[in-house]
Amino acid sequence: MTNAVLVKPQGTLVRAEWKHGMELSSQQLALKERAAAFSNGLLRKRGAEIDQSRDYPWDVVDALKAERFMGMTIPKEYGGEGRSFLETVLVIEEMARSCTVSARIVVEANMGAISTVMAYGTDAQRKRAADLVLDGDKPAICITEPDAGSDASGMTTRADKRGNRYVLNGRKHWITGAGVSRLHLIFAKVFDESGEELGVGGFLAVRGEAEGLRMSKRETTMGLCGMPEGELVFEDLEITPDMVLLPPSGFRRGFADLINAYNSQRVGAGTVAMGIAAGALELAVEWAKAREQFGRPIGEFQGLQWMLADMQTQLTASRLMLYAAASSRGPGGSSFPDPALSAQAKIFASEAAIKIVNDALQVFGARGYSRDFPLERMARDVRMFTIGGGTAQVLRTLVASKVLGWKLPQTRDGYHARGDGE
Ligand SMILES: Cc1cc2nc3c(=O)[nH]c(=O)nc-3n(C[C@H](O)[C@H](O)[C@H](O)COP(=O)(O)OP(=O)(O)OC[C@H]3O[C@@H](n4cnc5c(N)ncnc54)[C@H](O)[C@@H]3O)c2cc1C
Repeated sequence: MTNAVLVKPQGTLVRAEWKHGMELSSQQLALKERAAAFSNGLLRKRGAEIDQSRDYPWDVVDALKAERFMGMTIPKEYGGEGRSFLETVLVIEEMARSCTVSARIVVEANMGAISTVMAYGTDAQRKRAADLVLDGDKPAICITEPDAGSDASGMTTRADKRGNRYVLNGRKHWITGAGVSRLHLIFAKVFDESGEELGVGGFLAVRGEAEGLRMSKRETTMGLCGMPEGELVFEDLEITPDMVLLPPSGFRRGFADLINAYNSQRVGAGTVAMGIAAGALELAVEWAKAREQFGRPIGEFQGLQWMLADMQTQLTASRLMLYAAASSRGPGGSSFPDPALSAQAKIFASEAAIKIVNDALQVFGARGYSRDFPLERMARDVRMFTIGGGTAQVLRTLVASKVLGWKLPQTRDGYHARGDGE
């Protein structure tokens, strides 16, 4: 027997001594159980309310902070818990069963921009970012522009050198947390004083402190309501030297370095999708046992049994891929998850989750289509995960380039799309 964990879809979390490929330590299991209790309590109650109000859940942020689920991956010397990406993934899955918005806050407060700053920042930058996150901030990462989505290399946001400073101008859209996040990591092309392009840099700006950063519009989204997605405008945003997050190979390979550190976020996003699917499957199983038609519980019909079996199989495969990606390290002793494994896990988990949630909705019949039941919210929420953080198509390009051992530039001038990063 091992202490591997199996979350049986029986309405409540069932711990089983059942080996399915991944062993967790007793500390990891305890963390997962603490996250499950948090999720089954506050988040189960708040999930639907947050969706309806569309308000950012500051009460949940306070509770996450109190439980120390914000900044778990921040090293202890900066006040964090020094936890691994795998441990973070265990927590995210539990949160996503009940409330996607809360799970996304946990992703962004532990992976993504914060891990990029922790990887490349100066001591002062790390300390500042850690303090903000531990105080409840969910940092924003600002890459996408109206005309530069998958092809992020086509960004036009620019930082022009002026003496020992930069002046940043441009526009980013679909920024998660726009208007609520304090710390912003902004990707911009860097130009020297003669106008020569030097590459891509990351620039740190704190809302409320930096002048020249404003939100211009909030998107109306299909799901994930409660997490603002918005457009940010930078007008002569002054970048002092302490705001420059210098990639290790300098600006020339800046995009690849920065996006690599951001890779952990892909594992986090895939885990949110997987957690939604786990929650949906749990509900579907309960319903299949409780709902009777033709004088029998509908779960007694083989048509549904095989659907449930396929859903569980896809879920288990997703979970194992995500755990493996979270535990992996990229080439060259990198401290980030392997880019190809992370991309594969996100592609697989996000596509499987959409199918699992859709099938769970089917098991509920008409009630699945009702706003009085959680399945329709889950179906709206889960749909995003093949789009944000690199689309399933562009991530396939990354995987294909590893499989073939070729660079696969997508644009005619040889620049690489967002999927690139090594
Ligand atoms: C909810 C949400 C949150 C987001 N949060 C953030 C954030 O915090 N920060 C941020 O910077 N961005 C964010 N984004 C933006 C996201 O990263 C982009 O939407 C994504 O990279 C795709 O860009 P696009 O929407 O412009 O689509 P496009 O690039 O226009 O793509 C349209 C379609 O074409 C396909 N396509 C494009 N190029 C190729 C190719 N070479 N091969 C095959 N197919 C291709 C795509 O897969 C897609 O299906 C978010 C998006 C969403 C929906």
